[in-house]
Amino acid sequence: MARDERGVTPQSEDFSAWYNELVFKAELVDRGPVRGTMVIRPYGYRIWELLQADMDRRIKETGHVNAYFPLLIPESYLRREAEHVEGFAPELAVVTHAGGKELEEPLVVRPTSETVIGEMMAKWISSHRDLPMLLNQWANVVRWEMRPRMFLRTTEFLWQEGHTAHADEADAMREKLIALDLYAKVAREIAAMPVVAGEKTASERFPGAVRTYTVEGMMRDGRALQSGTSHYLGTNFAKAFSIQYTAESGEQQYCHTSSWGMSARMIGGVIMTHGDDKGLVLPPLLAPYQVVIVPIGRGDQAGQVLPPAVELAERLSRAGIRAHVDTRAQLSPGFKFNDWEMRGVPVRLELGPRDLADGAALMSTRLGEGKSPVSLDSAPAVLLAELTAFQDLLLRRATSFRDSRTATVNAWEEFAEAVTTGWALAFHCGQAQCENDIKAATSATARVIPAEGAPEQGVCVRCGLPSAYGKRLIFGRSY
Ligand SMILES: [Zn+2]
Repeated sequence: MARDERGVTPQSEDFSAWYNELVFKAELVDRGPVRGTMVIRPYGYRIWELLQADMDRRIKETGHVNAYFPLLIPESYLRREAEHVEGFAPELAVVTHAGGKELEEPLVVRPTSETVIGEMMAKWISSHRDLPMLLNQWANVVRWEMRPRMFLRTTEFLWQEGHTAHADEADAMREKLIALDLYAKVAREIAAMPVVAGEKTASERFPGAVRTYTVEGMMRDGRALQSGTSHYLGTNFAKAFSIQYTAESGEQQYCHTSSWGMSARMIGGVIMTHGDDKGLVLPPLLAPYQVVIVPIGRGDQAGQVLPPAVELAERLSRAGIRAHVDTRAQLSPGFKFNDWEMRGVPVRLELGPRDLADGAALMSTRLGEGKSPVSLDSAPAVLLAELTAFQDLLLRRATSFRDSRTATVNAWEEFAEAVTTGWALAFHCGQAQCENDIKAATSATARVIPAEGAPEQGVCVRCGLPSAYGKRLIFGRSY
């Protein structure tokens, strides 16, 4: 029966093939019938649910409330903000027929919801007492994708989008900080991704935004993944949608708005931040199963071992651990072990007749070597500690990887070399043309102007003009 088809192309051999095979083999996704669409399978969806639950709690704790807006938006709404429509036009899916006839006005399937939410904000806000308005929605959006990649770029994807309206710029900018801080914490504390937070350069801004902020993670191939963004929209959308309020002075004022989003692309980030040659490595806080118990033995022995295995899983569940017993009778223990290793389960336990007689199970962790006995009595406490340590280990490991692949450079040759394997920290003149030159020469783009770090002056790594940002930027190739 042994079918050993667990293997994926090793990450070290071909990162892209590794990723593309793994998302299917680990049963995270399947292809949708429409090109570029993705079915999220239960194992993958559970990861999203865990991330979503944590984010939703943080979004509410920071004073935001959830609402839901329609999927279909009148096409004319998008045209009201010139940069916005220009930025999204190539990716729009448009409904022209419905109800058996051609529509008078085409409808856009939302690529994002600034416009429809702006329209409602205009209706709901009249006085300074209505501000700030802090909304969030969990939704799917559609952006037509010519080069789809599971989780990273799909035509339809899941996300949350925060939309807020404020009396002035200062209040809107405070909001942007709250959102960015929230994303950085979700990434670091839950996904164990040591992201760098900061601002985007003008050429990397969201269409229609005055300023765009980002958290960027480094994947194990050295590329950057934009993992969440927050935009200060100024009064651009307020003017396009007449989002106005009466100030205390009695004057009519435009609101300052913000929007921010984090998507299921984060799952792609988790895969590429932690995975290795053997497959997925899941942070315990996002693992559908934190502990998998594999009963050992056939025939009568299997009958003996199964009840204690189920009982152990129940005790672990009561301690707050997501535990699962692999009861698939047709598969060998060896196959199951390799399967769960490939699927990234943090801790596996073997329970055989001999272990049972000793009152113990054999434990192995996803990144550890060998197996060690754990007494059944103390298993819940030992495993809770083991999972916490594993979560910490992943963040530390990813941080040292990121740091080892980040080079502070001044010369162009050093820059070009650094971005082939990771990130370059370099000065830049702030000219869009110079950013384009860098991209044409190296495929690297300005990822982020890090919020942290002391001010520093220097000259542009490409053209030698004075630095425009008062500090070094992170450049890298990206997803
Ligand atoms: Zn330059």
